[in-house]
Amino acid sequence: MTGLCGSKLTRLSIGSWRLVFGMAFVACVLASAQTKQLPGPISISVDATEAAQKVLHAELSIPTKPGALTLYYPKWMPADHSPDGPIWNLAGLQFSAAGKSIPWSQDDVDMYPFHVDVPQGATSVPAKLAFLLSAPGPSVDFSASGTARLFVLMWNQVVLYPSGWPASQITFQPKLTVPKGWTSHTALPIAEQSSEAITFKPVTLDLLIDSPVQSGAYTRVIPLTPGENLSHEIDLAADSDLALDIPPAVIGNYKNLVKEAQALYQSHHYREYHFLLTLSDNIMGLGQEHHESSDDRVPANALSDSNQRLLRADLLPHEFTHSWNGQYRRPEGLATPDFQQPMKGELLWVYEGLTTYLGTVLAARSGLRSTEQTCEHIALLASTLDHRAGRTWRSLENTSRAAQILYFSPSEWTSYRRGTDFYPESVLIWLEADVTIRKLSDGRRSLDDFCRTFLGGSETMPVIKTYNFDDVVAAMNEIAPYDWRRFFLERLQSVDAHAPLGGLTGGGWQLTYNDEPNLMITASQATPGAVDYTSSIGVLVKADGTVQDAIPGLPAYQRGVRPYTRILAVNGRQFSIEELNKALAESKKHAAPIVLLISNAGFVESHEVEYHDGLRYPHLVRNESAHDYLDEILKPRVAQ
Ligand SMILES: [Zn+2]
Repeated sequence: MTGLCGSKLTRLSIGSWRLVFGMAFVACVLASAQTKQLPGPISISVDATEAAQKVLHAELSIPTKPGALTLYYPKWMPADHSPDGPIWNLAGLQFSAAGKSIPWSQDDVDMYPFHVDVPQGATSVPAKLAFLLSAPGPSVDFSASGTARLFVLMWNQVVLYPSGWPASQITFQPKLTVPKGWTSHTALPIAEQSSEAITFKPVTLDLLIDSPVQSGAYTRVIPLTPGENLSHEIDLAADSDLALDIPPAVIGNYKNLVKEAQALYQSHHYREYHFLLTLSDNIMGLGQEHHESSDDRVPANALSDSNQRLLRADLLPHEFTHSWNGQYRRPEGLATPDFQQPMKGELLWVYEGLTTYLGTVLAARSGLRSTEQTCEHIALLASTLDHRAGRTWRSLENTSRAAQILYFSPSEWTSYRRGTDFYPESVLIWLEADVTIRKLSDGRRSLDDFCRTFLGGSETMPVIKTYNFDDVVAAMNEIAPYDWRRFFLERLQSVDAHAPLGGLTGGGWQLTYNDEPNLMITASQATPGAVDYTSSIGVLVKADGTVQDAIPGLPAYQRGVRPYTRILAVNGRQFSIEELNKALAESKKHAAPIVLLISNAGFVESHEVEYHDGLRYPHLVRNESAHDYLDEILKPRVAQ
């Protein structure tokens, strides 16, 4: 058992265990804190009655003593793995003591600490602040969390907390008032509620920030485990009653999801689980994990429209998996004691990457995607990564390490820059690990066993158990002895031009291309996103002709097509996705190039793209001479 005393902000730890939600203190923490009294409960009262008018008001009372006081606005958000606490939308900040206003200053280097001098005689500092809500735009903005009929309270947006203590030791007493007639849902334990005013039970700062509250005029609760001791539910909020009408078969799939997750992990680390699912076109799209809930925000028709449903089928399986992988088990570098200390993202290929693989698998096992749809999903993912221009200069490991900047990079130039590829590429790596275990053990063991032992473990309350790379390697060796260190490092540090497809070929499948549309690309054509021509001329194009990306080395790029331009015409006809598809299909029949007329910041250019392979879409095909491991992996474990 090794304590982690020594850092200024001492981690509440027992060996690699870190208890959140402040129910047990350990000797090493108290030893470091013995000269300093623990701060008493901080009261926070959030008035969200003007949420529809885009502003939240909060009043805090922070127990303290006279002298210098440093308060932090949360900076490093655990689920974002980034220093992106939206401090730019903090407003109206005022402090007082003994009824008089007192001045404050912001740190001159780091914008998140605030300093106040607490006058003699004061025992607490009341603070008032506002948080300004925004609307969804082209860039990531966590302030876009409310509409005229609903909002999601992310507590980090309205809290300040004193420096010098781990978040697991600071207690808050929260209250919330929502607009008249609105209903609220959260995993945060409630002490009492009278119509729109909710008083929560006292909680540690960790739990508070880990427990968003969804509130709205149009809501619906869908129990997923009715009659069982352990409650799981989908809490829907939408801008209209119409959006709450979900096909019963889809609800059945989500019930399957809970059963399949239980079969996979065979334990849980929550007291109850809430999918806080917000259906709105006026809120930022999001999937954000927590121990006992997830904050999932999708378009209004995401569950009723079959294309939208197919594209997002793995969202809830992914966020649910995070309760085990990411929340219960977390890389050491991402388990910081408060929200101020920087995080290290180098193991995000496990935290997010393995979760993406398991989200894909659980979506198939629960029926949210058919096996055919899952194969199409994996084919598109594999094709995209196999054409990633940036993979020869930036390793996958580096995309993990650089996550805190890559999350905020634009969609344009993604192929050359690389984005957060540790999500999709880890699907291929963990698939290969899964297939390898099955082969090594003659089918007796699989990655499911690793999930059960490493991510499941014993039943606990919401706690964090940290790990490092060596722990992952050791746990894999427990399941099937192999050189797992080399296996992972070779794939993580590779600068090979091609994606690791060994899991597909080893699993009995082959990535191939033909002119049959890929089901995922077809579904995306019915949404506002870009249409994927990666495997033909090498561009991603929106319905209005905007070139979102052009892939170096592929035909369009070679003839000068670049992102941040717009295609006006194809072979002399006004641009549309249909015209581009027609030109690609006809490219096989003659030797003439495809002529693209493009607007480049107002200057019109003509580009002759030499391409003659017709429409070309990625698919998986069976290699009948090899064992079908993929089918085994995707099969339900529970009778449905
Ligand atoms: Zn995730």
